[in-house]
Amino acid sequence: MSRAKNVPDLFGSMVFNETVMQERLPKDVYRKLKKTMREGTAIDPDVAAVVATAMKDWALSKGATHYTHWFQPLTGVTAEKHDSFISPTDNGGVMMEFSGKELIKGEPDASSFPSGGLRATFEARGYTAWDPTSYAFVKDGSLYIPTAFCSYTGQILDKKTPLLRSMEAISKQACRVLKLFGKDVRNVMATVGPEQEYFLIDRDDYAKRKDLIFTGRTLFGARPPKGQEMEDHYFGSIRPRVAAFMQELDEELWKLGIFSKTKHNEVAPCQHEMAPVFTSVNIASDHNQLTMEVMKRVAQKHHFICLLHEKPFDGINGSGKHNNWSLSTDTGENLLEPGKTPSENAQFLLFLTAVIKAVDEYQDLLRISVASAGNDHRLGANEAPPAIVSMFIGDELQAILNAIESGEDYTERAKTKMDLGVSVLPDIPKDTTDRNRTSPFAFTGNKFEFRMLGSAINIACPNIMINTAVADELCQFADELEGADDFKEALLTLIRREIKAHKRIIFNGNGYDDAWVVEAEQRGLHNFKSTAEALPHYTDEENVELFARHNVYTREEMESREEALLEEYYKTLRIEALTMSDMVREEIVPACVNYEGDLSRVVRNKKEAGITDGMETELLGRISALTKELYHKCDELERAVAAAPRAESKMLADYYHDVVLPAMEEVRIPADKLEMLVGKKYWPFPTYSDILFYV
Ligand code: ADP
Ligand code: MG
Repeated sequence: MSRAKNVPDLFGSMVFNETVMQERLPKDVYRKLKKTMREGTAIDPDVAAVVATAMKDWALSKGATHYTHWFQPLTGVTAEKHDSFISPTDNGGVMMEFSGKELIKGEPDASSFPSGGLRATFEARGYTAWDPTSYAFVKDGSLYIPTAFCSYTGQILDKKTPLLRSMEAISKQACRVLKLFGKDVRNVMATVGPEQEYFLIDRDDYAKRKDLIFTGRTLFGARPPKGQEMEDHYFGSIRPRVAAFMQELDEELWKLGIFSKTKHNEVAPCQHEMAPVFTSVNIASDHNQLTMEVMKRVAQKHHFICLLHEKPFDGINGSGKHNNWSLSTDTGENLLEPGKTPSENAQFLLFLTAVIKAVDEYQDLLRISVASAGNDHRLGANEAPPAIVSMFIGDELQAILNAIESGEDYTERAKTKMDLGVSVLPDIPKDTTDRNRTSPFAFTGNKFEFRMLGSAINIACPNIMINTAVADELCQFADELEGADDFKEALLTLIRREIKAHKRIIFNGNGYDDAWVVEAEQRGLHNFKSTAEALPHYTDEENVELFARHNVYTREEMESREEALLEEYYKTLRIEALTMSDMVREEIVPACVNYEGDLSRVVRNKKEAGITDGMETELLGRISALTKELYHKCDELERAVAAAPRAESKMLADYYHDVVLPAMEEVRIPADKLEMLVGKKYWPFPTYSDILFYV
């Protein structure tokens, strides 16, 4: 691949974007389509027909033969079913066709996607509907049309629809609030830049490990002599082989119009990160799904496997995804940017207060939004934020909030500046970006960085939570302030009251500190240590009411989601447990027996030669004892899995967490000890040293 590629030419070359639309669509059709995109109104069938033909012609010119409605079912990964454009002609040939109807609506068989019981399987019908706010693109010979996925009874079965609804909710409420500041804004967009961490390992190593193949993480593996303690990998120079991967990754992402911007090594060996430039959360979410997919595909071309699991290796940092979130008006204003004037600051402080209140009141939802079997290994493990949700706002902002709350420090200034109204709020220094890497939800100057996300997650869910919770607070604020006689006075009263009520969520200290856990408990903050513990709170009454108020989810939709997540959780653990026992029985025990056989021969030979005090006897004894222990622990694990109750998902999730997971940990202990005792040539699969330190 040549380095001399022209990036601006490459960028978006496989996307049916603004430029292509302007080129290929008649002016009036383009205008109508833009209106639909802007206002979210239904698309006129005549317009759709013209757009479909233009899209098809463009896709053919890019080498596409098929099209697919691309959607995001509850599994979190994307789904696609490809249809070719061919349509038979009278003379026995084919022509390439694509109708407006085919563009707007698709009907995949919905019965095989998880629905959390929402859609009885006999009612398998669901449909996908084009989301014109996210561009179509060509990949692997198909035209991809981003779509939402619903059942025929109207219930949503995907992650995109609620995200779009939550964006609508926050836009509506933010516009109301802005009106109070004299601003007539038509749309406020939630913006996100997700930083994506991942591991790259050699494909040959991967192919030899069933645990990586079936579960995405290693279920066995003793610590290598060297881990990440030298701190020599972070931002270190990039291996040539990895650099070649990264270059191709960038090019592939750019072609798809993804703003891949930053790449570097991460803390753990073989761990890397890619950060895109932020964009609207809907597009960021589609792009992040695509990024993960492209990462995996490009990795294979370089004889790598890209691991997106949150914790592929024990004792080595896992991978996360930092969700940088802010709000931006269609007039280009970032609402979380501290202003230059006192009045701008008042507006900023009001939005800041809304976020603080939202995070405090809906801590549980934020925790739930990042809950998964994989992420449980990270949160609270001294490498990622703790499982307790708290916020970091930095010293300067803290001082300002303190001042507002106490009200006293600023009375003098307030008097002199009273004519200027809200200038009683002090100036905010421009750059407050001191970084606190341990905080789950940190203000970083002009945006919030939510850091609890696992690397494999679909970012829609956390952003649905943030958008809706903040929308709700903004709605309450607008209700209160719209009716106020003295806006400025009411504003100050509101901010002061809410800061006082919700300051417990702010913690500017070290989140990895054990003392924080104790303090958080005293503050009354939630600490849901596991997914099994967190998920059942999804449908707590306040949460159901919140989503209903903003038309994001109905109660049934939430119940179905909770069910689907619980199922995913215990099924993941079950697959891990079964993989473990399979590896013990088929690989580890036989390897140990082989080694024992060779050792026994040496012991026997030595005995014949009159040597009875060789270390082989001792080693044989140790290996024999550990192998027996492993064998029995594996029996126990299998019994635990077999004894899983026939019960509802919530009980099963608890069972797998409380009974199966500890049994798995018990199996791993003797296995990892054996790995260090059994000769290398006997060990049946690559070890951490082999996998992590390739050249
Ligand atoms: P870090 O120091 O946290 O690694 P980076 O600069 O690598 O920071 O990443 C910051 C991310 O935040 C980028 O993806 C960037 O596009 C995103 N970002 C910046 N401004 C905003 C904003 N207003 N809204 C959402 N995301 C933003
Ligand atoms: Mg970051």
